[in-house]
Amino acid sequence: MAGFKPIKQIRASEEVLAQLKEAILRGRFKAGDKLPSERELTEQFQVSRGVVREAIRVLEMTGFVTMRQGPAGGAYVTDINFDNLSNGFLDLYLGNKLSIPELNQVRLHLEPEVARLAALNITPEYAARLEGALAAERQPSVDYDERMQRMTEVHYLLAEMCGNYLFEAIVNAIIKLTHQIVDAVKPEDHNSLHGAGEHDQVARAVLAGDAEGAAKAMTAHLEKFCKELIRMDQIYKGLMRY
Ligand SMILES: [Zn+2]
Repeated sequence: MAGFKPIKQIRASEEVLAQLKEAILRGRFKAGDKLPSERELTEQFQVSRGVVREAIRVLEMTGFVTMRQGPAGGAYVTDINFDNLSNGFLDLYLGNKLSIPELNQVRLHLEPEVARLAALNITPEYAARLEGALAAERQPSVDYDERMQRMTEVHYLLAEMCGNYLFEAIVNAIIKLTHQIVDAVKPEDHNSLHGAGEHDQVARAVLAGDAEGAAKAMTAHLEKFCKELIRMDQIYKGLMRY
């Protein structure tokens, strides 16, 4: 059997992938555009269907395209965003490569800084949204998911306000992972995690443009929350064993 070189086929698909990716990243295909059909790509690249299919599959898996069915179906270019980062965090956590204490440590550095920057970037529009998020925390919630959404809104908003897309992406990824854990554990006493009014101090400082006050209040809030999260994580890991 010597002489077979299966590597070549993989290389072909990697090359197709690299070219398609480059075309997307360089803007030749924009968000919402449909990639050429499988048949067209097969002809252009002069490779087999399987090679094209494999490249498209990887593009889909890595969030570059979404597949649509039907007459106008095909691979559609998605808006490039930081979802990959979120999914990466989640995978690392589930694969025991990233622990909650590690995550907490990063969060304790990051989010006070995010709150500090948010206070410096306050505008009337952001102020209105922040007030809205605070008011929503006090509304009686219909269900668990909705409540979780409301209790994290202030975090998302401050991340958006901080003006640094990478900070925002990391905060979003951390919150998404936190959601996953809390959602699986569903603690009876959700107030122990995030009670109503939990973000008042941070938000008030941000609204007042008090950067240092906002950072300090966020540290205090997170120190409490992170301890709870470690407890949730232990329960979660216990659940995952079965
Ligand atoms: Zn919070």
